[in-house]
Order: sequence, then structure tokens, then C-alpha cells
Amino acid sequence: MAAIANRMTFDVVIVGNAALGLGTAYFLRQQDPSVSIAVVGPSHRRGAATTTAGAMINCWAEIAHGQFENPALADRAELTIAAHGLWDAHAAALSEFDAEPLKVGWTTYILNNALGSPHEVRAVDYIIETMSKRGVKHDVVAPDSVPWLKPEQRGQATRVVRCPDGHIDSRKVLAAYERFCAARNVVQFDATVDKFEVGMRLPFGSADKTLTLSDGSKLTTKTVVLANGSFAQALVDQVPGLRREVPRLLWGAGSGIDVTFPGWVHKYGGLDPTALEIDAVVRTTDRGGACGVHLVPYGRGEYYLGASSGVWFEPEHQPRLHAIHVLMRSVVEEINKGFFWCTVGLRGPGFRPVSMDTFPLLGQSHLPGVWFANGTKRDGFTLSPYICRELARDILSGQSALPKRFAPSRKLISFKNKEQALDDYVSADLGGEIQHGLQLPPYAHARYRDAIRKTAESIYAKRGIEGFGIHPELIHLYENDEFYAACNHPRDKAV
Ligand SMILES: Cc1cc2nc3c(=O)[nH]c(=O)nc-3n(C[C@H](O)[C@H](O)[C@H](O)COP(=O)(O)OP(=O)(O)OC[C@H]3O[C@@H](n4cnc5c(N)ncnc54)[C@H](O)[C@@H]3O)c2cc1C
Repeated sequence: MAAIANRMTFDVVIVGNAALGLGTAYFLRQQDPSVSIAVVGPSHRRGAATTTAGAMINCWAEIAHGQFENPALADRAELTIAAHGLWDAHAAALSEFDAEPLKVGWTTYILNNALGSPHEVRAVDYIIETMSKRGVKHDVVAPDSVPWLKPEQRGQATRVVRCPDGHIDSRKVLAAYERFCAARNVVQFDATVDKFEVGMRLPFGSADKTLTLSDGSKLTTKTVVLANGSFAQALVDQVPGLRREVPRLLWGAGSGIDVTFPGWVHKYGGLDPTALEIDAVVRTTDRGGACGVHLVPYGRGEYYLGASSGVWFEPEHQPRLHAIHVLMRSVVEEINKGFFWCTVGLRGPGFRPVSMDTFPLLGQSHLPGVWFANGTKRDGFTLSPYICRELARDILSGQSALPKRFAPSRKLISFKNKEQALDDYVSADLGGEIQHGLQLPPYAHARYRDAIRKTAESIYAKRGIEGFGIHPELIHLYENDEFYAACNHPRDKAV
């Protein structure tokens, strides 16, 4: 590091101090002890996705129906599978920097029940098929053989699949990264980057990037990594060349709940004491765009219950009532009645970094030295060791196994093809509405599906979109004129 007054120069400046930012600093330092590295991010981490996540190491349970039949979606899934395999060693290596050993709690139970939509049954069929094909050990277990699965009558499970996904407390992982940085000469700034200038007065290839921090200090560098999630858009907007070429980042808002059994339940017993014994993640699959209802055990009768989901154009910093309501009802109805007595604390909203095609933004942009570790949406914590390791390799040596199709300066990648995207939109919409209480008389199902599809088709028609599939969670951004004007971006043809 070189310093003149409050101006400092580093080889690499990482913007963002959560899973992707600190993870990149960790792997850069592991791979090169001599490079000078700064990480900028506020210690409060307001709105961070990483600290709002449960956090599941979610790989197999996240696979969506038809995932491997589409090249971009298949690449996305392969990233998660590669990351899944790194976690044991990663947690063990980070343990040196934590007060107690960091360990992934493996095992996840996936539930199907009559409260989900037909789409969930199809998703679990596909997950089982994929795991079987790939020789991944899993079991389909009888619901009544799981001792703590005690839902209400209407939420009885119809199928339970035990798979090798896991969980680890993301806050402990971040704390270990911070201690690592402090011990290994990675400079951490408790601030935000408020101003980002590229190539001002200096030729590309020199320390031509200037970042002005909220405390007024200035960092100059040749290499910047934008790893500050959805917040990165405010910096991208300051560099017109980037803004034009990189799909916009949106706010994938999600809240969760910390649920805790009070002391008196431990002492005297509650409604159903088996609720204290859940030692693995219990979850549904994706529901209407959210990562399903999921319960993550932290031990001692403490759990994380997540998560809501909505892709927004602007952030909102308070959880919405309907989002929290769904989770509270679901845990009792679908997992264990004993949760009735729990105390609750709200987490979030945190913002999943969602790009305008929902695919990640990984690697160097068309502007030399401006890198992205971003757009990881709802499984970026799981992905982080793999993405950060490969990104660090790319920065240092120009070699990386990250798929080129996710390079940040690109056209929008089609979500499947238009017809498939419309089908998925109908399923996703229905899944979301059922979660919020929709009940239809038998004769109205087909009519309801048709109406949803027609609405979506009219949005495609309004924007003249053919040969491209819009991800179901983004279609409202194409509907609203103001959002569309801000988010519209060149589109690649569906393959
Ligand atoms: C409710 C919820 C549940 C989730 N559950 C899971 C899960 O179970 N498993 C999983 O794998 N993933 C999960 N995810 C997704 C996952 O959390 C994200 O994909 C991932 O954590 C993104 O990490 P990040 O470091 O890119 O961004 P973030 O975690 O959002 O961190 C961005 C950081 O940048 C900082 N920052 C913001 N602005 C600036 C600035 N101007 N300058 C410097 N720093 C700045 C912020 O303070 C923050 O610390 C979940 C997300 C949510 C919201």
C-alpha cells in the first residue's frame, strides 16, 4: 500500500464486505501473499443478503425442473455443485480464525405436501432424478419416520427426501474472514464507497480507478472488484460505459425470522417437545420465486426461518407483513405445531443481488480492471468459495473456470425459451398465490391459469419481445414503463 495524505493506492480494492467481497479477499491473499488488498464495507452491513440468509449450503434442493436441459441454467447449477464440494475444507481452513471450529451441518429434508403447488411435486421428482443420475446419496423417507415432523393435519407431508445439502452460520463465516484479513495484512475500511471514477486523467492499466469513501478518504487502484451486491448498481450508474453494457442489478428482497424456544419450554415442555430436536435443514422447494420455506437449526432450540422473496426496483428497509405472516403460519402448519410458543426476531430485509436476467455477473467487465463478483441471487453464500477462488485466480493469472457466458458486460441471457418461460411464469404465479391463501373451485383452475398466461403474453406483446424468455420473477419490471425504461437491456436470442 502507498499512501499520500488520505489517498492510498492498492493493487486490488474490493467493494463489499460480505460473502463475495471478503471471500475474494481471502482467496486473493491465499494465492498471493504479496498483493496489496483493501476491502471496503460498513460494519453494520445494513441490507446485506449474506447476514439475512439462514444460511443453507443449498445445492440439490435448489435444482429446478428442466434445469439441465438449458445450457445457461445447467452452467448455473454446475457452479453450485462445484461450490458444494468445497465447503468442508473451506470451513476447516477458516476455523483457524474462529473462536470455535466452523463446520457445515450436512443433511436437508425436502418436503412435499398438499399445501404446495403441483409445481413443487414436479420439482422434487426432478431433484430425485438428478441425484440418482449423478450417484448422489439420498433417501425418500416415510414422513412418519421423521420424529420431529409434526405438522398440522392439513400440512401432512406426502413425501420427504433426505439429501446432502447443509447449513452453516454465515455470520460466523464473515467473522472468520475478518480475523483472517486482520491477521494477513488485508486492509479493511469500515465505510462505503460513495464515488467511483474510472480512467479519469490516467491511461487504462495504471491505477486509473479512484474510489471516494464515505469518510472522505480516496483509494486508487488498477483493479476494483464490485462485490457489494445490489448496492453496486449505484456505483455502476456513475460510469456510463459500465451502465450501458452490464445488466442492471435489482433488489431481491428477503426477510427471515429468528425463532427461539423460551427458557420455560426447555424447563416445563411446550406443545410438542420434538420441535427442540430438529438437527437438519427442513425445507420446501422454490415457491413462487422464494427459496421455499426453510427452517435452519442453530442448536439450543434456536432456529432461522426463511425466507420471503420479491424482486424490487428500489430497496425498502422494513419487512412486509405478508412475507412474515406466510413464514409464521407455514412453520406450524407444515413442520411442527410446537413452534406455536416460540419467540421471534425479524431479520432483514436483505437484498439478494439479482441481475436483469437473474444470471450471475462474474469476472472482468469490458473495462479493464473493473471486475464483478455479483448477481448471485439466492444461493450466493453457497457459491462463494468457488466463485471467489476462481475470481482471485483470474485476477492474478488470467485463468479461471468461471463460465464465460456469465461475464458482466453482456446481453441478457434468455430464461429458457418464451413458451417455457410463460409456462414457468404461470406455475410460479400460482405457487406464490397458493402460499398467500388462494383457493379455487374445481372448475376455475384452467381459467385461472389461462388468465395469468394472457397477462404475461400481453406484457411480451407490449414490449415486442419474441425469441426470448423473461424470468418469471422479473416480468413485472417489463410491465411498468418507468422500470422498463431503466432496466431494458439488449437481449440474446433463446437457444
Ligand atoms: C433472505 C435471504 C435468504 C438467503 N438464503 C440463502 C441461503 O440459504 N443460501 C445461500 O447460498 N444463499 C442465500 N441467500 C443469497 C445469498 O445471501 C446471496 O446470494 C449472497 O450472500 C450475496 O453476497 P454478496 O457478498 O454478494 O452481497 P451482500 O451479502 O448483499 O453484501 C454486500 C455488502 O456490501 C456492503 N456495501 C453496500 N454498499 C456498499 C458500498 N457502497 N461500498 C462498500 N460496501 C458496500 C454491504 O454493507 C454488504 O456488507 C439468501 C439471501 C436472502 C436475502
